[in-house]
Amino acid sequence: MDKDFEKHLQEDWHMGHAVTNDVLHDIAYYRTLIVNVGMIGAPDSEEWVLVDAGIENYAKRIIHAAENRFGEAPPRAIILTHGHFDHVGSADELAKHWNIPIYVHPDEMGYVNGTTDYPVGDSTVGGGLFALVSPFFPTKAVDLSDWIKPLPRDGTLPYLDDWKYIHTPGHTPGHISLFREKDKTLIAGDAFITVQQESSLAVFIQHQKVHGPPAYFTQDWHCAEQSVQTLAALQPEIAVTGHGLPMEGELLREQLDELAERFYELAIPKHKKQ
Ligand SMILES: [Zn+2]
Ligand SMILES: [Zn+2]
Repeated sequence: MDKDFEKHLQEDWHMGHAVTNDVLHDIAYYRTLIVNVGMIGAPDSEEWVLVDAGIENYAKRIIHAAENRFGEAPPRAIILTHGHFDHVGSADELAKHWNIPIYVHPDEMGYVNGTTDYPVGDSTVGGGLFALVSPFFPTKAVDLSDWIKPLPRDGTLPYLDDWKYIHTPGHTPGHISLFREKDKTLIAGDAFITVQQESSLAVFIQHQKVHGPPAYFTQDWHCAEQSVQTLAALQPEIAVTGHGLPMEGELLREQLDELAERFYELAIPKHKKQ
């Protein structure tokens, strides 16, 4: 291999993979291979929160990315949108490293305290590589009981006064989205995403387009539809989702409205339509 190219690759690995992408002054995300980890807080702020914890073995890189943005200040907490393996993979290691609590919606608790497994991924949806291999994705309940705490049921979020969470079940029973009313910023987890996650090509090229939740793992399509309608009604200005690139403005709202209106046709896999 060309020496310069090799060096460039190495630098990219060291630097590029541990640098956050800024969305707003106080919102950034870091991509762990296929899934985004959110960071809420201004650079060098002492008060910041991590949203989701990426895939396994990414703790070091997430910590590095966090230190690049916030210096030595650890986050106050990790807030989970839901408990799927690609959102909690490094949670245990991160909570241990920073000695911080992990918050989850009460209805998601069983999946992250070691008691309830998710249903196995449905390989018959979508048809892309990710759907085909989804039965092999881990679905066993992780056990984060040393760190985990239930979110209050009233929608408030610890350490985030300007924010509230919205219970957006469907993809999982205790899935939440985070919303800040004053600038209509939405962190949607997998309630909807901006890439067609069932297609491995789209996942790696990352064209932005509003899509329904990753189909192979979605448990209740009726609830998922209502949740997308709830989020569309918020008319968000910016959305950061669990998979794909952030989207904003008219394009986001138009596509989200369309998904909400035509959810049955656009998002629900054929054999799940009744
Ligand atoms: Zn998920
Ligand atoms: Zn996901």
